Amino acid sequence: MQDTFRHKGLRKKLVETVRGKGIHDSKVLAAIEAVPRHFFMDSSFLEFAYQDKPFPIGSGQTISQPYTVAFQTSLLKLERGMKVLEIGTGSGYQASVLAEMGVRVFSIERQRKLYLKTKAFMESMPWKIQLFLGDGYAGLPKFAPFDRVLITAAAPEIPSALVEQLKTGGIMVIPYGNGDEQQMLRLTKQADGSLSEERFGTFRFVPMLGDLADD
Ligand code: SAH
Repeated sequence: MQDTFRHKGLRKKLVETVRGKGIHDSKVLAAIEAVPRHFFMDSSFLEFAYQDKPFPIGSGQTISQPYTVAFQTSLLKLERGMKVLEIGTGSGYQASVLAEMGVRVFSIERQRKLYLKTKAFMESMPWKIQLFLGDGYAGLPKFAPFDRVLITAAAPEIPSALVEQLKTGGIMVIPYGNGDEQQMLRLTKQADGSLSEERFGTFRFVPMLGDLADD
C-alpha cells in the first residue's frame, strides 16, 4: 500500500477539518496527519478515507469518524510511555493513532474474523500494538494496571473490571448509554477508588457486545 503526495495532501485537509470542529491538541492533530487512514480501509474505498465520516470495515463494524478519534484521543490527556487499553480494535486505526503518540497500546476485539484480519494487517504496519481476541468487559487483568482506558463502542454500563484495572489518577473515556446516542464521559479514578465524571456531549457508536462472537 502506498502513501502518495495526494494522500498526504488529503490528510492535511482532513486535519484542518478536524481542527475546525474544535480539536486544538497539536499532538493529536500531528498523529492524525501521520497515520494513513486509507491503509485501514478496503482499497476500493480510498476516496472515502479522508472524509470526516465513519465507514464500514466488515463484520458489521465501522472505523470511527476521524473527528471522533481525535476527540476521544484528546480527552485521554496522553503522555509518552503510558500504558493504554483500547476496547474495540476494529480496523486498528484508533490504536495506531494512540501508538503514534508514543504510548504502549493493548487492544481487545471480540469478533474473531475482524481480530484475525486486523492482526495480520498490523504485522506490516510500523505501530507495534498488542492485540487480543476477547471480551472488552473483562479487560486484561494480566497486563493491568493501565494509565488509560479507551472504549470505542457504546457501553450500556461502566465495566467494573476496567475500573479495577485503571491506576489511581487514571482516566477512562467511554461512550456511555444504550440508546441510539451515547454520552461521552471522562472518568478519573480517585485515590479512594471512586470515579469523578465529566461529560462531553453526545456521540453515536456501534454497541459493545457481550458474548464472544465466533463469526
Ligand atoms: N476503534 C476501531 C473502531 C471501533 S468500532 C477503529 O479504530 O477502527 C467498535 C468495535 O468494538 C468493533 O470492532 C466491535 O466488534 C468491537 N466490540 C464490540 N463489543 C466488544 C467487546 N465486548 N469487547 C471488545 N470489542 C468489542
